[in-house]
Amino acid sequence: MKNFIILSLAVLLAIGMTSVPKPEAWGFFGHRLINRMAVFTLPTEMMGFYKKNIEYMTEHAIDPDKRRYATRHEGVRHYIDIDKWDKIPFPNVPRDFEEAIIKHCEIKFVTGLDSLYFKKEITKDSIYLTTSHFGGVKLKLDYPTFVKYWKKVIKPMYYEDQWKLSGYDLDELFGTSYFQKNSIDVLIEDHFSEHGIVPYHLEATLSKLTKAFEAKDKSSILRISAEFGHYISDAHVPLHTTSNYNGQLTDQVGIHAFWESRIPELFAEREYDFFVGKADYIENPRDFFWNIIIKAHGHLDSVLMVEKG
Ligand SMILES: [Zn+2]
Repeated sequence: MKNFIILSLAVLLAIGMTSVPKPEAWGFFGHRLINRMAVFTLPTEMMGFYKKNIEYMTEHAIDPDKRRYATRHEGVRHYIDIDKWDKIPFPNVPRDFEEAIIKHCEIKFVTGLDSLYFKKEITKDSIYLTTSHFGGVKLKLDYPTFVKYWKKVIKPMYYEDQWKLSGYDLDELFGTSYFQKNSIDVLIEDHFSEHGIVPYHLEATLSKLTKAFEAKDKSSILRISAEFGHYISDAHVPLHTTSNYNGQLTDQVGIHAFWESRIPELFAEREYDFFVGKADYIENPRDFFWNIIIKAHGHLDSVLMVEKG
């Protein structure tokens, strides 16, 4: 059911408003308008509920931007600097969030005053951690086993300041006695999230929304729907898919606010076409979210060029 909402929002976005950036995509005006209009694309069974709460949906479209500076975890949910990782259609970016973090994390071992990094190598089947320290160590583990372990043990630490594993944990995982014998602890450093996680956060938000529907929890349904509208709108903004999010790499500083706030404010009511049809069911949300990013990123050049021209 919640997939209808995704599409309704997405369709609205696909219309004419091409771009916006990373600091605060769409500006408050744009976000409110998108959430409001999305309600009218819903199927009749859903529209009644959302129409009754349309003021809430409109007003709370901007909640995620309001709390951006309250926690370091919020900001990264609004964008992805996808050009840091790959080129369209981004075949080298894992669609699974945990696998993306594993791919780009650094694994550091700490013993006494020393702290050194493992060299990490991931092949289709295995993960290797090597170091020349302690006379040379090469650890190998079946990759799916490592991912499974990660999801169970490391994923729950996501919001903690430090992701730390003890020597005991490591020996158990790799079937060694090496870590405990040398009093080694391991720290894992996430170097992926800081470059933005919006497509992954859409998936996480969708799953929360599904749970809220299953629980028939009205206030959660509304809160999560309003926020979902925000993130999905951000994902459509070409300037939210690049490390050049404010034109700073192309001598166009300020383009972000221009596109996401100024342009919709000037043209939305007169020029934009809001008749975008009805929301439809989305079979594969993950592909759908990634296609949004691919499409948005595909418009990046024109966004930058039009402003220059
Ligand atoms: Zn945002």
